[in-house]
Amino acid sequence: MLALHGGVAEHVAALAAVGAEPSEVRAPDDLAGLHGLVLPGGETTTLRLLAPRGGLLPELRGMVAAGTPTFGTCAGLIALADVVDGRREPLVGGLRIAVRRNAYGRQTASFEAPVDLPSIEGDPMVGVFVRAPRVVSVGDGVEVLALLGGDPVAVRQGHIWATAFHPELTPDRRLHAAFVEDARAWALPLPTESGEPGGVRVRA
Ligand code: GLN
Repeated sequence: MLALHGGVAEHVAALAAVGAEPSEVRAPDDLAGLHGLVLPGGETTTLRLLAPRGGLLPELRGMVAAGTPTFGTCAGLIALADVVDGRREPLVGGLRIAVRRNAYGRQTASFEAPVDLPSIEGDPMVGVFVRAPRVVSVGDGVEVLALLGGDPVAVRQGHIWATAFHPELTPDRRLHAAFVEDARAWALPLPTESGEPGGVRVRA
């Protein structure tokens, strides 16, 4: 759980509620042994100022590139996006999407809307959008989990999950549960050639 800034406590509560053991990351040492990363919402501008301190960014980039399950919400989605506002200068990057920050206009800067995620069982989720980014294009291997008004608002690329809305701000834990299940599966020991568990995951 990247804890430099933003909606940290809400994600910690949501993760704990689905049986994960969240810990807060403020420095590279805090990353040791994690089986997943959550990048919360907040302000990308602030995150851009804070994240380079202490050398966290290269570590985060390496973990995402190595396939560590990662979940970004709102500013977290922006941090993961490879292209932001037309520039290929990602904060963390690794997610093949292009986004435009604050692109829902003034009247609808913040709003709630039902978000239907066909891969998640049950009723649509309540999407809380707070000065949300608009996903303007998705690249190869990016699965669109939900659309709103024709725009992707939840995407998945392998073990990278990202939403333009804030699932941590509602009591609905289904997305956190799905992410944690993915992270648990990823953390299982890999089989060796003999079929026994005990393989070693190699970081890129
Ligand atoms: N508007 C913010 C940004 O561009 C994101 C808002 C959020 O995370 N709720 O960074």
